Amino acid sequence: MTETIEAPAALRQINHWIGGRPVAGTSGRKGPVYNPAAGKQSGEVDFATVEEVDAAVKAARAAFTTWREVSLAKRAEIFFNIRELVHERREEAARILTSEHGKVLSDAMGEVTRGLEVIEFCCGIPTLLKSEFSEQASTGIDVYSIRQPLGVVAGITPFNFPAMVPMWMWAPAIACGNTFVLKPSEKDPSASIWTAELLKEAGLPDGVFNVVHGDKVAVDAVLEHPGIAAVSFVGSTPIARYVYETATKNGKRCQALGGAKNHMIVLPDADIAMAADAAVSAAYGSAGERCMAVSMLVAVGSVADPLIDAIKERIPNVKIGDGMDPSNEMGPLITREHRDKVASYLEEGNVVVDGRENCPDEGFFLAPSLIDDLKPGMRAYDDEIFGPVLGVTRVDTYDEAVRLVNDSAFGNGTAIFTRDGGAARRFQFDAQAGMVGINVPIPVPVAYYSFGGWKGSLFGDRHIYGPEGIDFYTRGKVVTSRWPDPATSKVDLGFPQTR
Ligand code: NAD
Repeated sequence: MTETIEAPAALRQINHWIGGRPVAGTSGRKGPVYNPAAGKQSGEVDFATVEEVDAAVKAARAAFTTWREVSLAKRAEIFFNIRELVHERREEAARILTSEHGKVLSDAMGEVTRGLEVIEFCCGIPTLLKSEFSEQASTGIDVYSIRQPLGVVAGITPFNFPAMVPMWMWAPAIACGNTFVLKPSEKDPSASIWTAELLKEAGLPDGVFNVVHGDKVAVDAVLEHPGIAAVSFVGSTPIARYVYETATKNGKRCQALGGAKNHMIVLPDADIAMAADAAVSAAYGSAGERCMAVSMLVAVGSVADPLIDAIKERIPNVKIGDGMDPSNEMGPLITREHRDKVASYLEEGNVVVDGRENCPDEGFFLAPSLIDDLKPGMRAYDDEIFGPVLGVTRVDTYDEAVRLVNDSAFGNGTAIFTRDGGAARRFQFDAQAGMVGINVPIPVPVAYYSFGGWKGSLFGDRHIYGPEGIDFYTRGKVVTSRWPDPATSKVDLGFPQTR
């Protein structure tokens, strides 16, 4: 993880947020925050101690006592306020994302807008928490179910969606009556503080939303804290597995979403231009730093040569540069180290377009790259590269293509491009992945469905946001009730019967 560094005076300081106000870290350990387009450090973020995580949990615990009593109508009103403020300030948020993550402004706006959809879903919390009622289940007895919040819940989030992924977590968690501790990525932490200030302005009581920054020390403190009831995690597969195992060992409910390697199958009957547009957009958008990016193209039969030609034709038109310039379409990668790691994959297969050429001089840039003839067993085929590198594998039949999808260690998203409805329907049935696109390369579900993968892309049994998010952040209780009716009262030592 990131090393401790000395801070030059001009660096922006990013503190924790506990109990409704900024709190400076006391550990002396900090991490660098970069402007990846310039390749320069722009700030530094406090790394929390175990005690600071404990202070955040205590603030959240104190706030839970009153927040869970707040009426559904009032919670909905606060969520409508949050919705309005995020909508009004989405450009401000986008600029923060671009300055620390590097994604271009239009992409950053897309991130905020998709997160906003989850907030809008949560405005309906009174309806979402409606339960069931059975009148006269037995004579004079009614039975009903209710869903109640868990208490203090935590979210641990990745660098690639510093606003949206936290929204997937805090919005449903808080709407359900929980209080929240966020441990955002230390690489682009400012969006979390922007969110904290906005939530306070929207009327959310102090302590309901808290932020502690940091590295493994902070994560382990969250996973081991007895006051935290549940943990949501989004990040890479090895850390997702670790978080899931540690959180559940400590008695917590946990959903841990991991990495991905998403295959896009193109059948011979597909519209080549449409498939090429989709592949270029989904592989190189956000410099490939999306868990739903298309990273492997599976070309079936005769489609391979014309498809690769069409992609090669499009790559030089992708405008690379500082995301703050609205004419640019692809920004830099998050750090120099990550950029170099991604570039190291351009040594295998048949490198058709090498992104190490034609990059801006400054910043952590790697231009779009294309590698043909990848096969399982090669690093560039098996690993999640998480950069602007699109691999191609050629197969003869649909069955071989599906086998590749299903043999993958990951199962986040996958897509098929075809004009054949029967083949598309077959694929929807066959594909072992949590999210399937039919002529849609990035099938991120809308906010009223839930998001999640299979296999190494998800540890736990609940997808995130949507109905499964509400389920994850609440627990059920069933009440069996009888009101005094002296006429039917008697002693009966038998097991309660309903007939
Ligand atoms: P990461 O796993 O390195 O970090 C995620 C979080 O875990 C961060 O908050 C980080 O501080 C923490 N962390 C990192 N190393 C740790 C350790 N050793 N012990 C404890 N905590 C640790 O992921 P990242 O690089 O920030 O994000 C990219 C990854 O996230 C990719 O693998 C991507 O596919 C995945 N991702 C998945 C989804 C999804 O929905 N499945 C969505 C977005 C990103």
